[in-house]
Amino acid sequence: MESRILVLGAGFGGLELAAILSERLGDEAGVTLIEAADAFVFGFAKLDVMFGRAEPQEVRLRYADFDKPGVQFLNERVVAIEPQTRRVTTDQGVREADVLVLALGADYDYDATPGLSEANEFYSVAGAERQRDVIPGFTSGHAIVAVCGAPYKCPPAPSEAVLLLHDYLTEKGVRGNCEITLVSPLGTPVPPSPDTSSALLEAFAERRIQFIGGRAVKSVDADRNVAVLEDGTELPCDLFLGVPTHRAPQVVLDSGMAVDGYVPVDSRTLQTRFENVYAVGDVATVGVPKAGVFSEGQARAVADALLGEPSAYGGRGSCYIEFGSGRVGRVDVDFLSGPKPTGTYHEPSVELAAEKEHFGTSRRARWFGR
Ligand SMILES: Cc1cc2nc3c(=O)[nH]c(=O)nc-3n(C[C@H](O)[C@H](O)[C@H](O)COP(=O)(O)OP(=O)(O)OC[C@H]3O[C@@H](n4cnc5c(N)ncnc54)[C@H](O)[C@@H]3O)c2cc1C
Repeated sequence: MESRILVLGAGFGGLELAAILSERLGDEAGVTLIEAADAFVFGFAKLDVMFGRAEPQEVRLRYADFDKPGVQFLNERVVAIEPQTRRVTTDQGVREADVLVLALGADYDYDATPGLSEANEFYSVAGAERQRDVIPGFTSGHAIVAVCGAPYKCPPAPSEAVLLLHDYLTEKGVRGNCEITLVSPLGTPVPPSPDTSSALLEAFAERRIQFIGGRAVKSVDADRNVAVLEDGTELPCDLFLGVPTHRAPQVVLDSGMAVDGYVPVDSRTLQTRFENVYAVGDVATVGVPKAGVFSEGQARAVADALLGEPSAYGGRGSCYIEFGSGRVGRVDVDFLSGPKPTGTYHEPSVELAAEKEHFGTSRRARWFGR
């Protein structure tokens, strides 16, 4: 294969695509992987950092350790993308490609929610690190985990956040002084799987966690310590842990490739409307949730196409859900096979906690060799 393949973004999608092409083609892979950050952090590691279960430096996987034959890694920021010509400008120069793959993920639109910033959200690494310092000071009052817009990454993560917050406050002996509420624009915690949603709602009820579904948080008023919901309801809040509204990174919006905030693709092939330009993962509208396991599956389908062995992307994946007390549940979802999405629920257990651990360590070993 002689094509120059330019992969933008080294998250779940970009790392997996580059890893497969390197594995199959070795020195001949011809892949250039461009990434602005110097380290990769798993999404779920942000919860570990926020609740003090892991040190920030422990969860940073340095790209210097991503060393694959046939893959040139460039630590550069993409500043312009021309999809018609597959020309990409970075802060270091111009790169041209025969095949271009966008795997730039989803960014946060803080401006969409007045009062929201890295100071009171936990979805960025900086935000999670900040909450790690803020949460220990919360010993009484009302805590809100608030989703400010959908779609957002990893639909179960806000549910995990309230359950882990419950454990944290219980261990500190202050749970009795605190209320916890989850506010979400989704009607139920995990809409494609009624069984998973019921189990989560049951777990919330057992722990006195209130769930307000079908409404997003519209703004946060730090002066009055209130969160304002879409319908005007005001909730007092002494601790606000937000999930920002998402959208594709600005450079993608500026490229003219996005429609309604994301890049439309053929769900089976991940091709955009531009010749030899693909988009995978959170940056694209694929018809599946925004989660690493889906980005990875889409990267595999693009790799198959580039290797001349096309396979239709199936839209299936398993998401792990922390229920607290060291137990993890799992939901196996299938978004594209049938007329509507389905999800099969597996009850929380220590075995599934070990499986989730393996999910992370296996990727770390595969991509970073450690
Ligand atoms: C709290 C939380 C918990 C989560 N838990 C899970 C889970 O348990 N399981 C799961 O599957 N998913 C989980 N996720 C979701 C998961 O992290 C994302 O869906 C996944 O990372 C998306 O992969 P991606 O490759 O599409 O994008 P990303 O992994 O976001 O990668 C995009 C990359 O592009 C880079 N980039 C962006 N702009 C530029 C630019 N201009 N120039 C160069 N590089 C750029 C970014 O730095 C980034 O490295 C969780 C997310 C959060 C926030």
